[in-house]
Amino acid sequence: ALTFHENWQRAWRNPTPKPLYDVIIVGGGGHGLATAYYLAKECGVKNVAVVEKGWLGGGNTARNTTIVRSNYLWDEAAHLYEHSLKLWEGLSQELNFNLMFSQRGVLNLGHNLQDMRDIERRVSANRLNGIDSEVLDTKGVQDLVPLLDCSDNARYPVLGASWQPRGGVARHDAVAWGYARAADQLGVDLIQQTEVTGLRIEDGKVKGVETSRGFIGGEKVGCVVAGNSGELARMAGMTMPLESHPLQAMVSEPVKPCIDTVIMSNAVHGYISQSDKGDLVIGAGIDSYNGFGQRGSFPVIEHTISAIIEMFPFLSRVRMNRHWGGIVDTCPDACPIISKTDIKGLYFNCGWGTGGFKATPGSGHVFAHTIANDSPHPIAAPFNLNRFVTGHLIDEHGAAGVAH
Ligand code: FAD
Repeated sequence: ALTFHENWQRAWRNPTPKPLYDVIIVGGGGHGLATAYYLAKECGVKNVAVVEKGWLGGGNTARNTTIVRSNYLWDEAAHLYEHSLKLWEGLSQELNFNLMFSQRGVLNLGHNLQDMRDIERRVSANRLNGIDSEVLDTKGVQDLVPLLDCSDNARYPVLGASWQPRGGVARHDAVAWGYARAADQLGVDLIQQTEVTGLRIEDGKVKGVETSRGFIGGEKVGCVVAGNSGELARMAGMTMPLESHPLQAMVSEPVKPCIDTVIMSNAVHGYISQSDKGDLVIGAGIDSYNGFGQRGSFPVIEHTISAIIEMFPFLSRVRMNRHWGGIVDTCPDACPIISKTDIKGLYFNCGWGTGGFKATPGSGHVFAHTIANDSPHPIAAPFNLNRFVTGHLIDEHGAAGVAH
């Protein structure tokens, strides 16, 4: 089947960097590529480069468990993630790229009375924001997931769940590739294998980026580097309220279809879905130490597998195929930073922690607006860096789904 692969068309160009761009996006993950795409498509800014130290989408975008949902508690976060979910719903058509976006629904399980009270509160808040969200009892959960252990004998009995039918999963690589191809077609330069090693700032204004291939000038620079955001901030002489942690995931050998929705449990602490090729995709909590290695520790794997077997005892003999880690940048309030900085022309989009994949389209959309207008998009405004000075934090630890 690969006989003629050398004749395949390139999906995007491999350009030599120009001396000066209107906007340089540092980081070619999903968020950076989406930002570049919306800058060119909706903001009329076409002289844009994305500078990526490795290959496009090789960071957390390639490493995540692809859960998409918008059932966050507070209005600010709910609006941001719902904005993104609405963009997901038409994105394969818009990019003419099959993102395998599958709205198979997401369950967040409750295992005790306090869990259920929190679920009822969050579902009510979601409904007030027009987000599809329901409270299910044990039978409702069992009907959706027949193989989940909902018996009274379970150590952590399933008392119910929140259910968002429009949530689901998408194909992670395809999102990066779809945005990359579309941005390239709009004239964006995608510059891979080029590491940003410094930010050139003169008289309080950004002038461009120092890279492993020399200086590239930029009127504006947007940093979208996930786990490396603290490092980029350091280059600008700033300190970000962020910690970088390893976060792991794993997949099993492929098995026949047995789970057709997404199941998350904060209490036993694991989450699971099944990919279209049959692998069980299993996510863990962060490793508690700070680190920049894209790998985690063994106890977290053991803990996660115990949680999954607690929920699905029939999986006890399924073999795991692969496991890996990414570096996630977590904020004290488990919400992102989408913000201008005190340095003119320098912007940061970071702090998505364990849950930014679902936000990829929305994050790129509001960040492009923020950069192009030098003023926050209304949905992005509450996620300003200034909230750590004013104290207007948006505490989403409960809805983040993975313990920080
Ligand atoms: P990335 O994809 O990491 O892109 C940042 C890019 O910046 C990288 O490609 C990197 O190489 C580049 N870069 C860094 N430093 C430099 C530099 N100096 N110069 C040039 N380039 C640089 N989110 C969900 O919504 N649902 C989930 O189910 C989910 N599961 C997850 C599971 C795991 C194991 C992990 C690790 C994360 C998970 N997430 C999930 C979080 C999600 O993956 C991230 O929030 C999101 O992908 C961040 O996207 P990004 O484009 O900002 O980052």
